[in-house]
Amino acid sequence: AVRVRFAPSPTGALHIGGLRTALYNYLFAKKSGGTFILRIEDTDQTRYVESAENYIKESLEWIGITPDESPWNDKGTVGPYRQSERKSMYREYAQKLVDDGNAYYAFDTSEELEAMRERLKAARVATPQYNAITRMQMKNSLTLPEEEVKQRLDSGEPYVIRLKVPRKDEVRLNDMVRGWVMVHSSQIDDKVLMKSDGMPTYHLANVVDDHLMGITHVIRGEEWLPSAPLHVLLYQFFGWENSMPQFAHLPLLLKPDGNGKLSKRDAEKHGFPIFPLQWKDPVSGENVAGFREDGYLPDALINFLAFLGWNPGDEREIFSKEELTEAFSIERIGKSGAKFDINKAKWFNQQYLKNKDNSELATYLLKDLKANGISASKETAERVANAMKERVTFPHELYLDGKFFFTKPETYDTKVIEKKWTTEAVKVLELYAISLEKANHIDAEKAKLILTDVLEQEGVGMGKVMPALRVSITGSGAGPDLMEIIAILGKDEITDRIRLALD
Ligand code: GLU
Repeated sequence: AVRVRFAPSPTGALHIGGLRTALYNYLFAKKSGGTFILRIEDTDQTRYVESAENYIKESLEWIGITPDESPWNDKGTVGPYRQSERKSMYREYAQKLVDDGNAYYAFDTSEELEAMRERLKAARVATPQYNAITRMQMKNSLTLPEEEVKQRLDSGEPYVIRLKVPRKDEVRLNDMVRGWVMVHSSQIDDKVLMKSDGMPTYHLANVVDDHLMGITHVIRGEEWLPSAPLHVLLYQFFGWENSMPQFAHLPLLLKPDGNGKLSKRDAEKHGFPIFPLQWKDPVSGENVAGFREDGYLPDALINFLAFLGWNPGDEREIFSKEELTEAFSIERIGKSGAKFDINKAKWFNQQYLKNKDNSELATYLLKDLKANGISASKETAERVANAMKERVTFPHELYLDGKFFFTKPETYDTKVIEKKWTTEAVKVLELYAISLEKANHIDAEKAKLILTDVLEQEGVGMGKVMPALRVSITGSGAGPDLMEIIAILGKDEITDRIRLALD
């Protein structure tokens, strides 16, 4: 059975790219009735941010992709699900690699490592590596007599354990998105697997945990592709090739113009969010915007994220989470980077918003009204929501753009006044107010009928009057169906407003 994992490091706010990775894992798992696991990769204590785990949890809860197994429930049997709580488990695996000659102790001090990098730089080595060549020059267990190694270990000298990457070998993996990836082992570093504080590094912990947790597919961002050959080597050294997960590396998220990787700075520059929730950085104190607080709906965001790197192969765009689960496949994930287009996110939001029930939309509106000291009935709020919903992108715009339903205009759009406030329009408005007053019950149809009567009587076309009528009622030149507005506000309020504008 399929078992996948999302394995974020709690080093700060979860980036939208991380959320997409979580979503693809979730969809892939649900499609096959598999299990979606969440593992917290917190072995790097220098980058640990305490509030980050909760941020990850809240983000996933908000968007509605709940892990089946995680540190937050007790459903799994392969926990703990935080790497810091698994610390003691990694030791034996590092030891096994050392015993088998696939890893070694290294005693190099940070000064020595720095000197090595300087030396390599001076020799114009493009990417300084700790590899088969450099390890011969360094103070590690492979260059020291066995007796001395033992002595140093016994005396408590700090050491790390490094992977012994073969000198001439080819490492291959068949990525589900990218196809065959082949790397010569000389391109791979003798990466540190166990740090001097006894903590494993990402590489060791990640591979050991994927194995122990029975992970069948590793779906993660493209930035991890360079690490994949190293992971394949580890699987080989542990003798786990036969149960090695299949890899799928997701395409990068690109800046809106397609030039380079999407960054936090792009978001700030253009004023759009790229984090699921608002985040206050505990170090800098700086606040970053979140999709949730900006008024994006979870299902709209899921739909948008799904299309950042995947497509269903036809023209359909609107997919519920269930429909996505049905349609999703790794085969349809693209290789090339996906441009992050916030306007597309807004479009999705609009589509989802306008399909919501009036009663749900009314709740948003009533909340904003209340916050602004305006009381309205649920029924009115529903009618206003219904009139407004085709025209808004975010829930808060129901109030912002529909304020005129609840308060008389304080200003009038000067452009409309200059061009459309003609003598004939004024005449029609005066007569319309009188006729409205005389009528009994006003609905949209009736309001229109009365208006056409006045227009006919005066011999004026509808188009010559509508802008002036609208501006007198709403203050603005554009908005939802005017007759519906008149019906909602009722004849008393409308005649009031027309007369106020005529004054
Ligand atoms: N902890 C890594 C991250 O923060 C996980 C990478 C992986 O999925 O292997 O993205």
